[in-house]
Amino acid sequence: MIRALLVLMLFALAACPSAPPPKPDTLPAGSPEPVTERPRRVYIGDVRAKVFHRDGCPEIEKIDLSKQRLLENPGEAVDEGYRPCKVCEPFKGW
Ligand SMILES: [Zn+2]
Repeated sequence: MIRALLVLMLFALAACPSAPPPKPDTLPAGSPEPVTERPRRVYIGDVRAKVFHRDGCPEIEKIDLSKQRLLENPGEAVDEGYRPCKVCEPFKGW
């Protein structure tokens, strides 16, 4: 009797559907990487002194955070009445 059960179990195991074959890698090889954006140039305006700096200028550290303003470009800064910093010279390129 036990032997019959064993045979039955073996049969059941054999009848089990085998695991599906691994899917082929659907990702195409060498898929294009997203174009890396060039680092955005930002300028920091000193609201009180009305001077603007390039991001990274050591003078920025002297400005109180609440007095700093993010400016998208030097043109915007000048439009708003800011003068370029003499230390980092924002108009001289990077
Ligand atoms: Zn500066």
